[in-house]
Amino acid sequence: MIILLSCTVQGCEKKSLYVPEDTKFEKNIIAMDTYMTLTAYGEEAEQGLEQAADRIQEIEQVFSVTDETSEIYQINHRTAQEMEVSEECAKVLEQALEISTQTGGAFDVTMYPVVREWGFTTGKYRVPGEEEIQELLSKTGYEKLSLNHRTLTLQEGMEIDFGGIAKGYTGDEAVAALKKAGVEHAIVNLGGNIQALGDRPDGTAWNVGIRDPIQSEEMFGTLQVSNQAVVTSGAYERYFEENGVVYGHIMNPDTGRPADNGILSVTVIGDKGIICDALSTAFFVLGLEGTTEYWQTYGGCEIILVTEEKQVYVTEGIQDKFQLTGDYGEVICIKKE
Ligand code: ADP
Ligand code: MG
Repeated sequence: MIILLSCTVQGCEKKSLYVPEDTKFEKNIIAMDTYMTLTAYGEEAEQGLEQAADRIQEIEQVFSVTDETSEIYQINHRTAQEMEVSEECAKVLEQALEISTQTGGAFDVTMYPVVREWGFTTGKYRVPGEEEIQELLSKTGYEKLSLNHRTLTLQEGMEIDFGGIAKGYTGDEAVAALKKAGVEHAIVNLGGNIQALGDRPDGTAWNVGIRDPIQSEEMFGTLQVSNQAVVTSGAYERYFEENGVVYGHIMNPDTGRPADNGILSVTVIGDKGIICDALSTAFFVLGLEGTTEYWQTYGGCEIILVTEEKQVYVTEGIQDKFQLTGDYGEVICIKKE
């Protein structure tokens, strides 16, 4: 009886057998301009990590906007308005379009002409003039893009990029590769996009640190997750400064300028990395009010949001799984109405 009790407390009643810590394997790779760390446990870990890493490289080959051999590059340099795309590309596009519709266009994969002129992806940073921005905006708009199974129609001058969704999708695929290899406990960190497979080897939840948007080398909170993706979009990730103004890499599709809606960072927690990634980018554009409205309408994820006033908002579903450690005052709960 005593043995049984202590087992329950430690959580070893879980179906999988205890996996010793010394079967931990780690693999670091650089892909998508990002330092990635993959950690897996168990006998299949080493092989699983190889396969996950291969899968990541494979996806990068398809989605890079700069690599001339990638499919996205081919799409952006097409000769006809209509073309057949791969199943993989169609799948991601379909998901992207659904989120564009649900977020009223805050997420928009057709923003690339604007993103590029601001210098993100090329490194030649500059602030385009208003007239130029209006001209560029005539080449954007997800509603102008049509996808029918694998047939993509893009008007002349339009270009797409998966920068706001690719890493989330890649996390899903890396975890799927690990799972297929027989791995049951793994955590994948794609430059701040975290994706957990199962629990930790001892059966407890993973502790994920959430990056402090002000002191971006530090963490400002911890979150317990199992089998979930944790994706953060922040102003600190990619930006440049000109005349004392900071310009970030997430664009507001309405204005053609960096999103400036009072948010320092927004973290989305959910079952699918691809959705969390797209939503974190969209929420950054929408601001606190728009994000709250989205969440109360659609749900399907949990959120940690930090405003410029250093207020931390957390949706009620993860309130008891999040501990604030940084100097941010009180956590404010976003409730379902
Ligand atoms: P990170 O790559 O740092 O994780 P995000 O997931 O927030 O950041 O994506 C930002 C990238 O998404 C930009 O670098 C750009 O390529 C693209 N992007 C910028 N604005 C938008 C937008 N409104 N909708 C969709 N993608 C965007
Ligand atoms: Mg994103």
